[in-house]
Amino acid sequence: MAAQGAKLRVYFDYNATAPLRSSVRQTMIEAMDLVGNASSVHSFGRDVRKKIESSRQRVAIALGLESKRVIFTSGATESNNLALKNFSGRVIVSAIEHDSVFKVRDDAVTIPVSTDGVVDLDNLDKLLEKNSGEPTLISVMAANNETGVIQPLAEVVQIAKKHRAYVHSDAVQAIGKVEFPWHMLDMISVSGHKLGGPAGIGCLVINTGLPIVPYIKGGGQERSYRAGTENLIGIVGMAAAIEESLKDNWIHAKKLRDTLEDLISEIDPDALVIKKETNRLSNTAVLYMAGVKSETQIMSFDLKGFAVSAGAACSSGKVKTSRVLEAMGFNTDKNGQVIRVSIGPNSNFKEIDGFVRAWQSIYEKCSNAKSKYVNNVRGDDYEFAYGA
Ligand code: PMP
Repeated sequence: MAAQGAKLRVYFDYNATAPLRSSVRQTMIEAMDLVGNASSVHSFGRDVRKKIESSRQRVAIALGLESKRVIFTSGATESNNLALKNFSGRVIVSAIEHDSVFKVRDDAVTIPVSTDGVVDLDNLDKLLEKNSGEPTLISVMAANNETGVIQPLAEVVQIAKKHRAYVHSDAVQAIGKVEFPWHMLDMISVSGHKLGGPAGIGCLVINTGLPIVPYIKGGGQERSYRAGTENLIGIVGMAAAIEESLKDNWIHAKKLRDTLEDLISEIDPDALVIKKETNRLSNTAVLYMAGVKSETQIMSFDLKGFAVSAGAACSSGKVKTSRVLEAMGFNTDKNGQVIRVSIGPNSNFKEIDGFVRAWQSIYEKCSNAKSKYVNNVRGDDYEFAYGA
């Protein structure tokens, strides 16, 4: 996004994190002047409490649900852990969940997905029929971070109701991009930095009465679901970010993403991993380059000024093959030759054009496949300003 060194760079990794919005930055700077602990009784403390509660209200309004359901956490990883870890009962998760859901419970039962990356509802229904009599929690993400595929949450809720099961959704990638009656879910995980807010803040929306034992104990903050002095700066930043995110123009992003995919498939018709007609986020493209490792692609794009990622860049920065693509039936070779491009609401055609040129250039240099594109263009020295 911003200039780094001599070359201007383009940020196409919004699903990893979105740039901080300037209005959010301003709101946070103003909140830094507030002194006080929200639990203190004096007027300083009460001012901080007021800010936190009005932020809670703003988050709740953005999601269309009651503010008392919003519990601030340090991010979606914590929210997912809070939702699943100490749930007293059976836990069912989809095969494509983020690790912060997938790895929380060793005893979780997994629901498979189709080759299009959509959770198998029949399988879920059958699993729930085997009712053990204990409370059951189903965790299905709203949209997948690697593929952008939107999950049939309304149907999941319907099936769950039939079997009196609870539904949690990691909605990190969908909030602000997809409209959904969020109040229908028993629990929802939200992350600030995916919305153009700061990292290190998120929330878990929760219904009272769920059989959950909080694991961070101490003070009684956040209705005892999450002890610890509240992160005021993060909380006001997150509230501002979620409000702003509702104004984003994802129709524009969809046009850009579709153009990118059309142009890339002219170069290689086999490059598109997710079928165009799949119900998915409007900002995400998953591209396969035959014979070129994901890691090599990421580094090559980085040299050309484009920040993209492989679906499963882990915390060590290494690129692993994707568990999500594996669950969709991709073989290991193909799996390791895929990248994710995730654009933002303010991306532009010039950036898309530059990316396609870069893709063609890397493809022609590194891939064992032959370009089918007639207008040979090379993107080696393509430079332009973000947002121009
Ligand atoms: N779930 C999904 C689907 C994500 O994409 C991410 C971020 N990679 C997380 C959870 C974790 O969010 P956070 O960084 O706020 O802990």
